[in-house]
Amino acid sequence: MAKWCTTCDRPVEGDTCEVCGQSVEEPTREPMELKYKFFIVVTVIYLIWRLYQLISWLTH
Ligand SMILES: [Zn+2]
Repeated sequence: MAKWCTTCDRPVEGDTCEVCGQSVEEPTREPMELKYKFFIVVTVIYLIWRLYQLISWLTH
């Protein structure tokens, strides 16, 4: 599995990034994806809530 360089924001094959030369110890991609999924869920819930308010405002 490819590791992830946070400095260049690109996948790295091996232990050292070919572009910036930093050693990549552990893949840090999974926590970022979890944050991204959480942000999407919060945004969808907010949009549904706003849509519900709009519909209730239109029908009254
Ligand atoms: Zn890099």
